[in-house]
Amino acid sequence: MNETKQDILLEAQGINRIYCQGKEELRVLKDINLQIERKQITSIVGPSGAGKSTLMHILGGLDRPDKGRVFFAGQDMYELSDNKLSRLRNQKIGFVFQFYYLLPEFSALENVILPGLIARKKKQELEKKGLGLLRDVGLEERVSHRPSELSGGEQQRVAIARAMINEPEIILCDEPTGNLDSDNSRRIMDLIKDLNKKNKQTFVLVTHEEQTAACANRTVQIVDGEIK
Ligand code: ADP
Repeated sequence: MNETKQDILLEAQGINRIYCQGKEELRVLKDINLQIERKQITSIVGPSGAGKSTLMHILGGLDRPDKGRVFFAGQDMYELSDNKLSRLRNQKIGFVFQFYYLLPEFSALENVILPGLIARKKKQELEKKGLGLLRDVGLEERVSHRPSELSGGEQQRVAIARAMINEPEIILCDEPTGNLDSDNSRRIMDLIKDLNKKNKQTFVLVTHEEQTAACANRTVQIVDGEIK
């Protein structure tokens, strides 16, 4: 089947990002063009410092490019007001980071439902859904645990459940296995592959690990701020 415009969920056009360090300008992303297809796992690979995280932040509406545009389902994200962009991020995009970023004083379940509370959904329904998601990621026995009572791999599985609570159109993962040993990394990757297969969940994975990138349908290489 030919690729149609409908299959493209995210599109970056001519992205440039420049950081100023004192008098020096560091051009971290150089005219990046990229299309992310729905229902696929796309990995963005490259050495440390290549610009992968910067690109992921820009794709996720977290950091404005100095030049270029990002379209989410045809909508130019950075033309939106700050409020509308926050809402789009909250409702349509899930994020998973290397260091999980769970709130330490909340239980696993409370962490999972938080983006749903921000979206003003009903707590009771969110709790039901959150329990289902925690079961899906194999943590039904850990719902009341706080992050400090969970292993790194378990914390990352909570973060994945949290990323899914609002049924986002895409989940962006920045080095999702970067802090985990090889067994736990494999488990996280199996979970991502499973969610992609069962729910047709679209993923973008930023990683420097070959094993992590290997599960993707498509791999994009970025070197020195450019797609190779
Ligand atoms: P990667 O994710 O591929 O390791 P990054 O996108 O994190 O790469 O960083 C790309 C380059 O931009 C690096 O040289 C990094 O030091 C630099 N950089 C990242 N964030 C900032 C910032 N806020 N200010 C200045 N330089 C930055």
